[in-house]
Amino acid sequence: MQTTNLPCPSCNAVIKINIHELLNGAAFTCENCKARISMKPENKEVLQHAMEKLEAFKKTDPSS
Ligand SMILES: [Zn+2]
Repeated sequence: MQTTNLPCPSCNAVIKINIHELLNGAAFTCENCKARISMKPENKEVLQHAMEKLEAFKKTDPSS
């Protein structure tokens, strides 16, 4: 299972989510503000940003 840290769209707290489950319609709850995170249209942009950040981290080579 691949878990990803997603910034809460409401309070910016880090939420551990499973991208695969999210894409399959699962909902996650922010432990900080109890916001529901699911694959709603308004959350797709947030998810997109999170994935872009994740890609940026992956592309960073710490040994260079
Ligand atoms: Zn929150």
